[in-house]
Parts: sequence; structure tokens; C-alpha cells
Amino acid sequence: MSKQERKRRTVPVPMNEQPSQERVRNFKEVPFGYTEEQAVEEASQCLQCKKPLCVQGCPVNVKIPEFIKAIADREFDKAAHILKETNSLPAVCGRVCPQEDQCEQKCILAKKFTPIAIGNLERFAADWERDHGKMSTPECKASRGKKVAVVGSGPAGLTAAGELVKEGFDVTIFEALHEAGGVLMYGIPEFRLPKEIVQQEISMLEKAGVKIQKNFIVGKTATIDELFNEDGFDAVFVGSGAGLPSFMRIKGENGIGVYSANEYLTRSNLMKAYKPESQTPIIRGKRVVTVGGGNVAMDSARTALRLGADESIIVYRRSEAEMPARAAEIHHAEEEGIQFNLLCNPVEIIQDEKGFVEGIRCIRMKLGEPDSSGRRRPVPIEGSEFVIDCDVVIIAIGNKPNPLIPRTSPDIEVSKWGTIEADEEDGRTSKKHVYAGGDIVTGAATVILAMGAGKRAAQSIIKDLLEN
Ligand SMILES: Cc1cc2nc3c(=O)[nH]c(=O)nc-3n(C[C@H](O)[C@H](O)[C@H](O)COP(=O)(O)OP(=O)(O)OC[C@H]3O[C@@H](n4cnc5c(N)ncnc54)[C@H](O)[C@@H]3O)c2cc1C
Ligand code: SF4
Repeated sequence: MSKQERKRRTVPVPMNEQPSQERVRNFKEVPFGYTEEQAVEEASQCLQCKKPLCVQGCPVNVKIPEFIKAIADREFDKAAHILKETNSLPAVCGRVCPQEDQCEQKCILAKKFTPIAIGNLERFAADWERDHGKMSTPECKASRGKKVAVVGSGPAGLTAAGELVKEGFDVTIFEALHEAGGVLMYGIPEFRLPKEIVQQEISMLEKAGVKIQKNFIVGKTATIDELFNEDGFDAVFVGSGAGLPSFMRIKGENGIGVYSANEYLTRSNLMKAYKPESQTPIIRGKRVVTVGGGNVAMDSARTALRLGADESIIVYRRSEAEMPARAAEIHHAEEEGIQFNLLCNPVEIIQDEKGFVEGIRCIRMKLGEPDSSGRRRPVPIEGSEFVIDCDVVIIAIGNKPNPLIPRTSPDIEVSKWGTIEADEEDGRTSKKHVYAGGDIVTGAATVILAMGAGKRAAQSIIKDLLEN
């Protein structure tokens, strides 16, 4: 056993956090981030493997040992630079990536001990750079005289725009909402991802020359063909995400107090409904039930507590082992007192005579044989129905792509799920000079996968436009 292995503690250096009872009544970020000393201590435990498996586990192949070594050597600025060679949003990814299923899962130390806290270190380096005023505008090549339109300003669109502007392309992002950032702004709450961080990244892109047209719905304000023929764009990248919520189609789902998670979180995150001065109303339920087991469900249930709920209850039809939410989010939710009603599925939302929600009828489930996703299929247990009293129900069972773009550009091929068919390697679609990536192609996935797709598509746009 090497010297470093012997030194490795059984747990990574912990990050200080707001105490759970305090944080449930505010929207401030939960973990405080590493101090310099904590970061150096954690980084010093990396074995600097010759063939680092962690890099293979990262969808954008961040040079993990190199940036960690820079932190261990107290070269924090250098660490941030190394990160940004392959990941344009490290402060975001350090906070929201499912590292436990990616780089940290592959870390050699995970076999005997616990992995290096790669995400925490990534966040530290990116925050250090920002807090010390060291963020710099990317250097851009001379103009290539080519215009590229990017549809959507989520991680896929922002990454594609960043790659293209650096190569000297004239880039305009068209965003349907009044703020840029996609899910990073309207979906993931402030207590997990402060909006100031997202806005600083966006302002760096703007400084580099990316133009952002907000309140512009491609397919309505202008179609993709109009962007080509009337506005003179040479290529279009579609990164419009999967923002169309799915519903359960059960009785009572139209009740007053039933929200899709998208609507609930948008009201709170984007429209700041939690602030007394906000013009946007939101029902501040006292007993809130959230249906679902992913990050979106955790974010909704935790938001409900911060909006003043006495009780916030998750209803999920499988068991904890099948929950798709990040382990850290489930842990934080449990700490905050979110109640988990597992193996339980809603069958009806009960309304009072005026249509207000007053309860949700559920049925107990058991796990049967695995389904096509490999997870054991939940099966209802006959005669086990029961009612949970509540005044708000949030449906967080998944999102689909909005059909507007494929409908207004019928020459773009789509799958039976409504996702755009695009080559995984280069983002090319069936329509010439139209590329796509992120959730619009994969269905609801992750930030880093959307960023990787945006980057690959940008590389093929650069190649195609420079060859023509
Ligand atoms: C609440 C929530 C929590 C999440 N938590 C995590 C997490 O912890 N970790 C993680 O890795 N992933 C998480 N995800 C998933 C992740 O955020 C997405 O996979 C990622 O944002 C997808 O990026 P994207 O760029 O493809 O799309 P989006 O981020 O959805 O951005 C698409 C943008 O396109 C705009 N748009 C749509 N249609 C048009 C149009 N016609 N014209 C112009 N603009 C348009 C939208 O307004 C939006 O701004 C979460 C998702 C949600 C909803
Ligand atoms: S696998 Fe773990 S120990 Fe090895 S280089 Fe990566 S983070 Fe360091």
C-alpha cells in the first residue's frame, strides 16, 4: 500500500453546510464550499494515477489528476484554467453533476476507501477563480464571416455558443424565456445553484461576442427556415431541451393547487415568487405532496418547505434503490425532514366542492420483474388504497421535448418520443446545416451530457462551415 493510500481517510474532507433546520426557511445555497485548506487537504490525497480511470468516467474528459494536482500545489488559478480547457461551466458542474455515477465512481480509491471528492474540488477551483476576479473572457479568433443561430440558452446552447464564438463565428442565441440559462435558471433552485453564478458565465459569453435575443420563440417568432433565408444564418444548432411536463392523467389532476414541477419551480426560481415583492403568485401549501423520485422531485419538495409548508411529502412508486435523484439530493432532502412515501402511486387527486386540492388517493405497490429500463416494475397491491391529506400536489414524473420546432420544421426527423434524431458524434440532423444536442435529442438527461453534445455539434459546425 502506498504512502498516500495509507493516509487516505475513510471519508472525504466534509464540506461545511447550513444546518438543516435553518436552511429550510431560506433559499441560500446549502453547502458553503471548501476553504483553501480543506481543498488542499482533499486534493493531496489523489494518487495521481498514471492511467486515471476518473477521466474516463467524465463525459467531457476533464483533466482530473492535473487540476487536482494544481490545487494540491496551491495553484488555484491554474486548476481553474485546466478545468476550463474541457468544461466551460465548472462552477455549475461541480455543484450539480452526478459525480457518484461518473468520475467519482471510477476513482481507484473508491474500490477500497472513498473516492476523491472530485466535484467538490471542481467547484472550489471555479469559485476561487470567480471570487478572486480572475475570470477571463475567452480569446476569440478573427471573424470567419459566418453566422450561426443557437436555439435555447441551456447548457447545450451555451456550450455550443462558447465554442463557436472562440472560433470566430458570429453567434446569436435565441431564447424563448426572458432570462437565459435554461434549466440552470428556471429549474434548479437557488439553494443548489445560485443564479448569480449562471449569470456570470453568461455575461462572459456576451463579452466574448455572443448575442442573446430573449423572448424569441423559434417556431413562432421565426422558423428555422426564416433564420436561414431571411436572417442569413449559415447554420442552426437546436438545444431547446425537454421542457414539456408529463402528467399522470388521473382524476382530479386539473384541481386548483396541482402544479407541474416545471411550473412550480419556474414560478419560484425564475419569477422569484418566494420574494414578497414578486408579482408572480404561488400557492404556499401547508401540506405538499410531490409525485416522483428524481432531482426535479427533490427540488420541488425542498422548495415547498422553503415556501412555508409544514410538511412536504414525496410519493414515489418504486423503492429508494430505484430513485433516479442524486444521492446528495436525497440525503439533503432527508436531513430537511422531507417525508418519503415509497412504493406508493397516486390514483386520484381529491378536490373540495370549489375545485381546491384536499388530498391525494394512493395505492401501495410492490416490485415485480425488471422492465425495459432494468428496474423492477412496480405492481399495485389490490385493496391497499389510502388518502394523504394535502393542499398542493406537484407532479414531477418527467419532461418531454416541446414539439414546436419539429412541427414547424417538418424536414427535421424526430423519434416516436418526439426527440430530434441527431448523430451522437456530430449532432447532424436530417436537415442540412441544422444540428441538435442536449435534452431535445436524448430526452431529459444531465447538464454535462447536454454540454458534451453542444461541444461536439459546435465542432462539426466549425468543420462543415469552414469546408464550404
Ligand atoms: C428541476 C431540475 C433539476 C435538475 N437537476 C439536475 C442535476 O442536479 N444535475 C444534472 O446534471 N441535471 C439536472 N437536471 C437536468 C438538466 O438540467 C438538463 O438535462 C439540462 O439542463 C439540459 O440542457 P439543455 O441545454 O439540453 O436544455 P435546457 O436546459 O432545457 O435549455 C433549453 C432552453 O431552450 C429554450 N427553448 C425551448 N424551446 C425554444 C424555442 N422554440 N425557441 C427558443 N428557445 C427555446 C428553453 O426556454 C430553455 O431555456 C435537472 C432538470 C430539472 C428540470
Ligand atoms: S482515479 Fe481518483 S486517485 Fe486516480 S487520478 Fe482520478 S481522482 Fe485521483
